[in-house]
Amino acid sequence: MPAVTVADITILPRVIAESGARARSVKSVTTAPQGFEGEGFPVRRAFAGVDIAELDPFIHLDQMGEVEYAPGEPKGTPWHPHRGFETVTYIIDGIFDHKDNHGGGGTITNGDTQWMTAGAGILHIETPPEHLVMSGGLFHGFQLWVNLPAAKKWSKPAYQDLRASDVKLLGSSDGGTLIRVIAGEVAGNIGPGSTQTPISIVHATLAPGAKLTLPWNKNYNALIYTLNGHGSVGEEARPVHMGQLAVMGEGDTLVVQADQTQESRSPEMDVLILGGLPIKEPVAWMGPFVMNTKAEVLKAFDDFQKGLLGTIPAADITGVHGAPREVVEGN
Ligand code: MN
Repeated sequence: MPAVTVADITILPRVIAESGARARSVKSVTTAPQGFEGEGFPVRRAFAGVDIAELDPFIHLDQMGEVEYAPGEPKGTPWHPHRGFETVTYIIDGIFDHKDNHGGGGTITNGDTQWMTAGAGILHIETPPEHLVMSGGLFHGFQLWVNLPAAKKWSKPAYQDLRASDVKLLGSSDGGTLIRVIAGEVAGNIGPGSTQTPISIVHATLAPGAKLTLPWNKNYNALIYTLNGHGSVGEEARPVHMGQLAVMGEGDTLVVQADQTQESRSPEMDVLILGGLPIKEPVAWMGPFVMNTKAEVLKAFDDFQKGLLGTIPAADITGVHGAPREVVEGN
């Protein structure tokens, strides 16, 4: 579990909840089904089975791996389009290359983030680099889809390259949790990601037995996804384990506690903590497009077929990211 680590959490700024802060309770816990993405890399569909209104402003989350590839085995995606939202790709272990038809792209590895605003439309490809394909090795990360409000769906595509060293590092009050703020704000500490909609994204690593009480914007929703290990969440200490998503209710803080005993393959508990201001607009989502109406989604397919999103041919646009093959409407 490399991402970004520090030898001594106690030297970091501490996050301390205000006295009298109300811990959020758990609304639901769901277990992510496993599937395959792109050319066949294994993923957990973290948001499966959860009402899209509970996820708002997020759309989709895939935990990629954790997988130990044999030589020749690493897989990526073919070229494919997107419109109407943003993709945030974070690598914990391994390497991923990204390239888009607007000149964005680069290589990300342990703790780095690629942040792509598809806006009006973009084509991109996400692949492991050739040397990783040759050598095989460990691969683990996630890709999050962040919705854009109608007013920003037609914005110019943009790309942010966030390095692991830019992530804002904080410690919990008991010194047992490393808190990485990737984007947004947590207790006055700002992460590097520039967001189109108000959101916060945190990757936290809890030592066995550690308890994290994280102040959280009371206007944001809150989702806690366990990347590895096991413990409990919420003021009622509801048990959770790897691959489970907890949707949290209202309140001031988020509580996560790691069990004292963890498995040797993942000696610590890792959680992804997400939240944002709900956009509260209709969502129409099919394949690689997330718009407000079915007509807009169908127009996106039409525009793509006409080459209006770019000139690089995509072999398969319906299979990307496990997105639905029929229009999903919600909210
Ligand atoms: Mn994509």
